[in-house]
Amino acid sequence: MSDCIFCKIAQKEIPSTVVYEDEQVVAFRDLQPQAPEHVLVIPKKHVESVLGLQQEDKDLAAHILVDVLPEIAKQLGVDASGFRLVVNTGKDGQQTVKHLHFHLLGGRSMQWPPG
Ligand code: 5GP
Ligand code: ZN
Repeated sequence: MSDCIFCKIAQKEIPSTVVYEDEQVVAFRDLQPQAPEHVLVIPKKHVESVLGLQQEDKDLAAHILVDVLPEIAKQLGVDASGFRLVVNTGKDGQQTVKHLHFHLLGGRSMQWPPG
């Protein structure tokens, strides 16, 4: 998607602070962090939201959950202390960037419920 800012970040057309990268996934620090550790994990492939994942994306989705997120949590040092994963989706979910992203938030005690 030529006008998608996260596609541009994945393709390094927009700079970001990358904390993890492999063939399918990139993770980078959020521009406006809401916690001491706030990383966005995205598939390099453009998928609009969690509802845009197709049957063919099952391996990708599993890779993110099973391999990538635990690896980043360890790297950030929040695997023992805990963290929050957020996937804002659609209008009521307040999704502002229409490219699937997992917020990984940690480094402080997170409040619940969110507003
Ligand atoms: P959403 O509201 O869609 O769940 O989250 C989008 C997130 O992307 C926000 O937390 C916002 O701060 C972050 N963001 C938006 N534009 C950029 C950017 O150009 N670079 C980085 N690193 N983060 C961005
Ligand atoms: Zn995109």
